Amino acid sequence: MPEVYGWTGKRLRVDLKNKKITIEPLVTRFRKKWLGGRGFNMKVLWDEIKPGIDPLGEDNVLCFGVGPLAGTLASTSGRFNVSAKSPLTGLIGDSNCGGHFGAALKGAGYDQIIITGRSEEPVYLLIKNGRVEIRDARPFWGKNVYKATVSLKEDIGAQSMVVCIGTAGENLVRFANIMAEGCNAAGRTGMGAVMGSKNLKAIAVKGTRGVKIAEPEKFEKLAKHRFDELRSEAFYKAFSMYGTTVLNNPEWSSSLSQCKNFQSWNLPGIDKLSGHNTLRYVSRLKSCTACPLSCHRLYNILTGSYAGDRAAGPEFETVAHLGYLTMNTDLEVVLKSNTLCNDLGLDTMSAGHVLANAMEWYQRGIITHKDAGGVKLEWGNGEAQIQMIQKIAKREGFGDVLAEGAYNAGRIIGDEALRYVGHVKGMCHLDLRQGYAFALSRMTSTRGSDHLRGDPSMISNPEACKKILGDSKIAYPVTIYGKEKMVVWQENINVLADCLPRCKNDGIQYYFPISKRVFKDIVEILSAATGVDWTTKELNLIAERIYTLEQAFCVREGINREHYKLSWRFAQEPIPDGLFKGSIVSQKELDELLDGYFNQRGWDIKSAVPTRGKVSELDLIEVADELNELLPRSSWNGPPLDKKFIA
Ligand code: SF4
Repeated sequence: MPEVYGWTGKRLRVDLKNKKITIEPLVTRFRKKWLGGRGFNMKVLWDEIKPGIDPLGEDNVLCFGVGPLAGTLASTSGRFNVSAKSPLTGLIGDSNCGGHFGAALKGAGYDQIIITGRSEEPVYLLIKNGRVEIRDARPFWGKNVYKATVSLKEDIGAQSMVVCIGTAGENLVRFANIMAEGCNAAGRTGMGAVMGSKNLKAIAVKGTRGVKIAEPEKFEKLAKHRFDELRSEAFYKAFSMYGTTVLNNPEWSSSLSQCKNFQSWNLPGIDKLSGHNTLRYVSRLKSCTACPLSCHRLYNILTGSYAGDRAAGPEFETVAHLGYLTMNTDLEVVLKSNTLCNDLGLDTMSAGHVLANAMEWYQRGIITHKDAGGVKLEWGNGEAQIQMIQKIAKREGFGDVLAEGAYNAGRIIGDEALRYVGHVKGMCHLDLRQGYAFALSRMTSTRGSDHLRGDPSMISNPEACKKILGDSKIAYPVTIYGKEKMVVWQENINVLADCLPRCKNDGIQYYFPISKRVFKDIVEILSAATGVDWTTKELNLIAERIYTLEQAFCVREGINREHYKLSWRFAQEPIPDGLFKGSIVSQKELDELLDGYFNQRGWDIKSAVPTRGKVSELDLIEVADELNELLPRSSWNGPPLDKKFIA
């Protein structure tokens, strides 16, 4: 095999049913076509997951992938993607995670792990450079994330990097996450439940082999330049101090203050949840591999009801979901909720959503005090929130229904409950009424409503729009003009970030100014690492290919143009108060925008299916053949559920 630079050129396949481990080569053509991380994973999901399978059944396939920059000195490159069919949505499941696991996996000599089948008994996977073993995890099963991580490290050595699930993953909570090193979350789409369904408690990796770089001197110079550049950005100091909770500070929070399950944008006491206030609890800063930004903070509550509580975080999203949406302005309750979610292995965003929906159902009498198992699900009731998080993870009482996630719980309880769930393709995020670019990015996200697929960072930035999209008018936030171009650009660069890997905080999305240099940076450093002469055009094509394959996966599972309709509240209720008072998204205008988006993507505007012309341009013709054979498809409604709600 010729020398491989950047990548390792190998992946592990682990068949848990037959306890079989194989090493497969990743040939040049495959690597250049799918780049890494998310791209490698999506190709496997398309090829190996049969349409219609139960995501919690043994036929689901779970992939961990890293890209050519992982394990190198390229800025923010220690990340990995974990992907499978999502038990939360029945569509694409995919989450990108920081920490050190990605770099360790690469250092152990692998670009990807593919996990198939289901073990009869709890196991964990141990990878120590070339040595790979499936080991008995019974001593760790039943332990939550922090204890399981520490106990595993005691057994196998402190230098191993561990990803594991907690009680929620073991109990197949549909929004269970996977925690890396106990403090970084692969949060969205329920990948922890897939791990739990396979009886796989953890993966521990020790990797000490370096990554071969094609042009080491040039690479080092470029990597150093990016570090210096990030450190000299105006926003660097604030971001390193507050992390993402910089957005919870008063300068930003009035434009992000959606609360009460989106019934209001006016949260009295919101400033108690500011980033400034979180600093009182911070014990130290923490960074992912090769990151000068160090946006993670470890906190410690020293006094009061939750004294002794400590964990990593919280992120802006956690404060917004477990604070704003549930009307909870007690910062210590938010911290305690965050600690519990991390330890039990729950996505803080989906947890916040399901709690906020439960509180609205309670407010409206759709569920009663008795239905909620005697828990007073009133707005801002911190004790109820903390109690219910634990019940969800254990699937206890009403927690068993909420463990299905907000959209699925709505399906179980009935149409009246479902009406208030603000979701896209079964997953919830923030209020879509903030503007058309924002709404479009949520509607077209291939994993359901979310901020990390294509949240348009160029909004209100005419200079960036002019430079990148050639038209400053696109920046104007109120109109639909050109927003499809903005969203497609952002979706594509986010795909690349998940393939390289590179953190989205590193000039990709938000915080640090995006510019055309982002692509130039990527082209230069990727070429120096891999020895391949990349061009912007090629990278764009790869991003388009991956995003189109994700769409094809969703279409194969029953997504069609009908699923691009707004949830009831976002289409019918103008925002009643706050900065965006009176705002609403018109489905008619959104449809117009979606037509533009589908045209831009080369997907059929009536069916949402990638066109044959487009897929052949992207070298995906086998996808078109398979989609044709499947016609007509049954329409998606969510994953299969077996729960009943008896009021
Ligand atoms: S910016 Fe934060 S999340 Fe991103 S790699 Fe750095 S420390 Fe990790």
